[in-house]
Amino acid sequence: MSKQKPQQFATAAIHAGEIHDEQGAHIAPIYQTSTFIFENMAAVEAYKNEETDGHIYSRGSHPNRAALAEKLATLEGYQLIQDACAAENNEPVVAAEIFSTGMAAISATLLGVAQAGDHVIAQDVLYGSSDHFVKEIMPQYGISTSRVKGMNPDALAQALADHPNTTGILLETPANPTMELVDIAAVVDVAHAHNTKVIVDNTFASPVLQRPLELGADVVLHSTTKYINGHGTLLGGAVISRDIPLMEEKIGMLIRYFGGVPSPFDCWLTNLGLKTLPLRMKQHSENGIQVAQYLEEQKKINFVHYPGLESFSQHELAKRQMDGFGGMIACEVAGGYEGATQFLDRLELCSLAVSLGNVDTLIEHPASMTHGDITPEIRAETGISDGLIRLSVGLEAAEDIIADLDQALR
Ligand SMILES: *Cc1c(COP(=O)(O)O)cnc(C)c1O
Repeated sequence: MSKQKPQQFATAAIHAGEIHDEQGAHIAPIYQTSTFIFENMAAVEAYKNEETDGHIYSRGSHPNRAALAEKLATLEGYQLIQDACAAENNEPVVAAEIFSTGMAAISATLLGVAQAGDHVIAQDVLYGSSDHFVKEIMPQYGISTSRVKGMNPDALAQALADHPNTTGILLETPANPTMELVDIAAVVDVAHAHNTKVIVDNTFASPVLQRPLELGADVVLHSTTKYINGHGTLLGGAVISRDIPLMEEKIGMLIRYFGGVPSPFDCWLTNLGLKTLPLRMKQHSENGIQVAQYLEEQKKINFVHYPGLESFSQHELAKRQMDGFGGMIACEVAGGYEGATQFLDRLELCSLAVSLGNVDTLIEHPASMTHGDITPEIRAETGISDGLIRLSVGLEAAEDIIADLDQALR
């Protein structure tokens, strides 16, 4: 639950939610404990009546998780909280919950928004495991799902008319791995006319570059494994929402009873990483455009998808919706699987690895790595070709990243 306090974004990234303990520790301790001691039964009663802020058992809540939740809520709900401050509204306007992985956050959200008999509409291109969850797992629990290409508003309106039992819409922008963008405000307009919640996976952009809640979305999801932590040391997930009843009655219950909670140490590390997120995203964006421009000029690269390029088909939407374009690039190497393999095998500085958003550059081959479970037909339909590679441009000097790509291409 975020306390409403006006602060600049970069200041909030460092100070929001910080724990100041009685020992005067500058950096929060790691509360590496499973349970919490109560002084006496009166303290137990006070806790039960919500008269104190304490914790009882770390699956329910623990200090490092609460601190991280507050920081992330403050960043994703930045403008909403500023507006609440200005209106002197002290009610919580944004809440967050932290999970052990991004998939724990995504599955809890989808099962919190939809029950047996309901319908969920998802974008056609999604992170591989989200795609599997929507396609294979949800129907096993009586929740039907369908897809809308690129979340086109007209097609979405049609899908909502076809499925009046739709309770949630899931989208990713930029989408993994194609970098396709979705106009969040346009989707919100259509969805809210049908009383349907809009869930945005904001992992690729982070709250520095894009804040879906400010554009009207109901729920934001993160794999905090990626940019939020930024250093590749853990797995984590987060749900941030302006729908306080949804958070309290559904998401809060699902994390407690499914039990996908994060460790104190992982929350502590993520909180530390988050402090430099504004600075990191700025440099990821500066390196991203340089690498994208370099790739665009290469004969052996068929196309480059990067929201910051003038040639990007959704560049106008990117400028309207985002505050910078980040470090994720998709491009197609000439020669299909063979061409991509030769290129990837020759890289020296850049690592061949899935995941993204780390300080170092990671490159992967979606068709055989992150999206290998998707059938070749659907891969072809959604633009995941055999020559497609996905780059997570790191914080090394851009010229060194480009030199490595260049020697591998030559
Ligand atoms: C990695 C990722 C996920 C899944 O997160 P995990 O932390 O691996 O469970 C979900 N969505 C996107 C866009 C991702 O990149």
